[in-house]
Amino acid sequence: MSKSPKGTVYPVLPLRDIVVFPHMIVPLFVGRDKSVKALDDVVKTDKKQIMLLTQRDGSIDDPVGEDLFHCGTIATVLQLLKLPDGTVKILVEGLDRAQVHHFSEDKGYLEVMGDVIPEEPASDEELEGLSRAVISHFEQYIKLNRKIPPDVLVSVNQIENSGRLADTIASYITLKIKEKQDLLELGSVKERLELIFKHMDGEINVLQVEKRIKSRVKRQMEKTQRDYYLNEQLKAIQKELGDHEDGGPKDEIGELEEKVRISKMSKEAEEKCFAELKKLRSMSPMSAEATVVRNYLDWMTSIPWHKRTRVKKDLKQAEKILNTDHYGLEKVKERILEYLAVQARVGKVRGQILCLVGPPGVGKTSLGKSIAEATGRSFVRMALGGVRDEAEIRGHRRTYIGSMPGKVIQGMKKSKTCNPLFLLDEIDKLGSDWRGDPSSALLEVLDPEQNLTFNDHYLEVDYDLSDVMFVTTANSLKMPQPLLDRMEIIRLSGYTEDEKVEITKRHLLPKEIKLHGLKKAEFSINEEAIRMLVRHYTREAGVRNLEREIANLCRKAIKEVLLKKTESVKITGRNLRKYAGIPRYHYGQAEMEHQIGVTTGLAYTEVGGDLLAIEAVIVNGKGKMLITGKLGDVMQESAQAAMSYVRSKAEKLGIDSTLFEKKDIHIHVPEGATPKDGPSAGITMCTSIVSAFTGRPVNYEVAMTGEITLRGRVLPIGGLKEKLLAAHRGGIKTVLIPSENEKDLADIPENIKRGLKIIPVTTVDEVLKVALFDATVAQTKEPSSGSSNKKRPKKATEGFSEDASRMM
Ligand code: ADP
Repeated sequence: MSKSPKGTVYPVLPLRDIVVFPHMIVPLFVGRDKSVKALDDVVKTDKKQIMLLTQRDGSIDDPVGEDLFHCGTIATVLQLLKLPDGTVKILVEGLDRAQVHHFSEDKGYLEVMGDVIPEEPASDEELEGLSRAVISHFEQYIKLNRKIPPDVLVSVNQIENSGRLADTIASYITLKIKEKQDLLELGSVKERLELIFKHMDGEINVLQVEKRIKSRVKRQMEKTQRDYYLNEQLKAIQKELGDHEDGGPKDEIGELEEKVRISKMSKEAEEKCFAELKKLRSMSPMSAEATVVRNYLDWMTSIPWHKRTRVKKDLKQAEKILNTDHYGLEKVKERILEYLAVQARVGKVRGQILCLVGPPGVGKTSLGKSIAEATGRSFVRMALGGVRDEAEIRGHRRTYIGSMPGKVIQGMKKSKTCNPLFLLDEIDKLGSDWRGDPSSALLEVLDPEQNLTFNDHYLEVDYDLSDVMFVTTANSLKMPQPLLDRMEIIRLSGYTEDEKVEITKRHLLPKEIKLHGLKKAEFSINEEAIRMLVRHYTREAGVRNLEREIANLCRKAIKEVLLKKTESVKITGRNLRKYAGIPRYHYGQAEMEHQIGVTTGLAYTEVGGDLLAIEAVIVNGKGKMLITGKLGDVMQESAQAAMSYVRSKAEKLGIDSTLFEKKDIHIHVPEGATPKDGPSAGITMCTSIVSAFTGRPVNYEVAMTGEITLRGRVLPIGGLKEKLLAAHRGGIKTVLIPSENEKDLADIPENIKRGLKIIPVTTVDEVLKVALFDATVAQTKEPSSGSSNKKRPKKATEGFSEDASRMM
């Protein structure tokens, strides 16, 4: 190491992957021959100083000057130890940073000429502030970086010289070689501190993120371990409690799992079930939650997911079944067969839904059953009467105590197949209130676009209803328009007396005899008795009450057979009273005498046609009109129109027009508590008014229906068939109908047309001509049937329709 004018000459020790800062004491292993040689020479000198230069590229084995950074550290070799393998271990202490000027390799190793880089001065305050910031950062850094022993901080805190502080910290923090070299090359203490601060800042951020990730991973691992541990413990406890014995919950869960597997449910449903099973496993078997989950799984596994019956497409067979089950109803059967034909061709149930509309007891439900039989589907019936809550259709969510699936899914469970015939009974009786609108849920069920994925609140998974054939029944068409739009309406009107007798003989009797366990020879009833049952014991459009009467007779008969050992009970017109009791209805005319101001109208109700008397009286007053009997707006207006017509034609009708100022007229329609509405009582009211003002009695054998205009024309009405059936039942002789309704007569059974004199009318004049007698005719006349019973017969619909409104 010789002094030259440009600086001092030092042997070089090239370093592969370390930057040694001044004041650092570092052990180094030296293996390269040249370096060992240089060391040998250095230890022979007094100062034992050597220049430490870091290689630009650590992989170079024999670096020349260009391969080394030109700024390094002058260091003293404190110790040197030769190892047996020829390498040397030394301990060096950095002294000063130095700038290198010139390289030479004269002695067989690299030598440089270098100068110490002086520390650039800075103000004390500045350095003091920076030093504190750096120390506090370093403190944070040590906390995050576990590799640095904490006592380093103590020694760092004791360093007073800022330059030395910077170098010491630089040697501890994790930096790339280039970054360390940059720090080494900075003569300015201030810049050095700033750079260190920057590096530490970045590093602390990275370490913080690292720490967060680590702790999250740890937490997760802890949780899974904890769950596993607790589950294992639970299992052990259950085992201790003896649950592992045969038939314990373990088996039950296994069974449930098996059931889920074999039920072939949809993928979504299966996943849901497995998730629930998993939950169930970790629950105490006695807990309330476990019961809820078990119930759920029971439901899921007991509804049909894939089982189906083979759908029959044989129309001939279908026709046969419909005919053997039902008498008459030709048109209805034809419509049903057409519908089935389309279905058989198209191969699916999509499209319109059949809706059978008609009064009770005309065979809507039993037609549904027959269609099911004819198509080979299983039959389920769902009564919609009084359903007000959407949840009844769609189910309650499982969070409710005692929740269950809705009626649709319940029906599917009952049917056990996924392609049944689903009869929705009394769809017009669906209510709606604040609990939601069930009709909207029903719309979803009936819509082929939506019912593929019917969602029951309880099941939570979609259920496919697209293979279900829906048939609905209703008494009237009073239902929301969207529902009506979905359906193909097939109307069933009431039966005539003859039809009822036939139905009884062919269907009701054999059915009831069988149901009551009677033998054929033990019970018989002749036609006369059946006809009497129809006339005097029932008054209905269908045959429901008639069926009940027959059942009643069967009960009486079986009692007699068993008690009195009678061989057989034969019921005839003569002994009917003994078995069936006192006749309930009088068969005959509606009114028993020609009266002033009382006219028989024909009404149409949900349960069939009906006779309705309209009364009018005049009383002293000021020309006002009073209308009572719970009449709707349309009917009241119709009464006013009739009145106006009468006033405008007073002279022609033979009415003293001064009467209109002096008298009030009161129109009443019994029974007062039943709401009535519609325009078709117009001519009836008009007849009563004219009768009241003129004193001309109304012929009690005449009934009528028709809307009236102010100019006295008669407009057409609806429900003609029901009205005519009612007139026939009620013993009316002559019926006045609007001539525009004449075309509807084609649908009326022949025997009805034969039994009634049907007169089509176009004007009120024609009505009055037929209905009114001259004033001279005696008011009272014995009815032609000779009955002395003057009481008006009870309403044809008695027993179930007192609240049903009557449409005139
Ligand atoms: P709805 O559903 O229209 O109220 P149901 O289908 O319950 O009427 O019919 C009542 C009873 O009358 C059933 O036993 C049914 O078999 C019988 N019935 C109705 N119409 C006929 C018919 N045309 N032929 C044979 N039986 C009938």
